[in-house]
Amino acid sequence: MKLLLKLGLIASLLITSSFAEKVYKLRIATTWGPTLSPLFDAAENMAKIAEEMSNGQLKIKVHASNRHKAPLGVLDMVKGGQYDLGHSASYYWKGKDIATLPFTSMPFGLTAPEQYAWFYYGDGLDLMQKVYAKHNVLSFPGGSTGVQMGGWFKKEIKTLEDLKGLKMRIPGFAGEIMAKLGVQVTNIAPGELYTALDRNNIDALEWVGPSMDINMGFHKVAPFYYTGWHEPASEMHFIVNKRAYKKLPKHLQKILKISMRVAAYDMYVQNYDMNAKAWEKMKKEYPNIQVKTFSKEIMAAMKKANSELRAELSAKSPELKEVLDNQEVFQKRTREWTKMSDYLYLKDNLE
Ligand code: CA
Repeated sequence: MKLLLKLGLIASLLITSSFAEKVYKLRIATTWGPTLSPLFDAAENMAKIAEEMSNGQLKIKVHASNRHKAPLGVLDMVKGGQYDLGHSASYYWKGKDIATLPFTSMPFGLTAPEQYAWFYYGDGLDLMQKVYAKHNVLSFPGGSTGVQMGGWFKKEIKTLEDLKGLKMRIPGFAGEIMAKLGVQVTNIAPGELYTALDRNNIDALEWVGPSMDINMGFHKVAPFYYTGWHEPASEMHFIVNKRAYKKLPKHLQKILKISMRVAAYDMYVQNYDMNAKAWEKMKKEYPNIQVKTFSKEIMAAMKKANSELRAELSAKSPELKEVLDNQEVFQKRTREWTKMSDYLYLKDNLE
């Protein structure tokens, strides 16, 4: 019996050491620069978790955008096999494939806990694989910013009239909604945003939330900080080249998936903490900042424009329609619980 146990132990040691011999080296390209916390941190964190959990068998090199010079070429590079993995945001690919849009966040859509529930316990993850199959990559949640703020405005916005002709940087689907309301939507490179706002070349802009806005300095020149509606839970994503994934032994595939999932959750909570700290600092240094919420009239017009745009896009793409309809059904059911739990809890406990 003892001998058998010993032999078993030796055999398992041999198996472990033969596994440990082969090191798999992978590379991940991010859309972000190396100092863009917490987005870039999520990719680094994932690589670190994967290496530690695999006992060094998975080595993932992280390349920031200043290295590969193609921040918005991440999907193409992973698809083409120049990189094994990528970290970016799904809605950046809406110009190539409109069905990728809802996997980041939709205006008036799911909150972060609701969206994670949709990904992991609803149909979210399966639908995402279905959409990305034609790009030859797998896609997984990669960290949520939570509710993004509605943006910095130089003047208070009271009525729909105040939005007419307003020059604002707000990209993507939300920009299309704003355009329907008469806003003159402009696209300006991130590095030039502060100057554009300071010099009145634009009247307003949206970025992320306190955690990432603070370093941009918008609060120094535009005192009205509007609450969010357009990106209630922007989820980054990891993409993995299918061939590179298939080459990994099963246990490393599992470790990779777990690492991505942990890093995604970690980015969400890291950003939550960063938001609270950044907001505390901003408010103290610039007490003239005023937090505002768009009026009921403006919100109703935004919702109307949102529904119209969704219907227009859904009519063009049955694949997008399938994802949007699925999210909508999920949101209706889950929101009932959110109202009973978080919403009423907070409502009754706020001063
Ligand atoms: Ca944003």
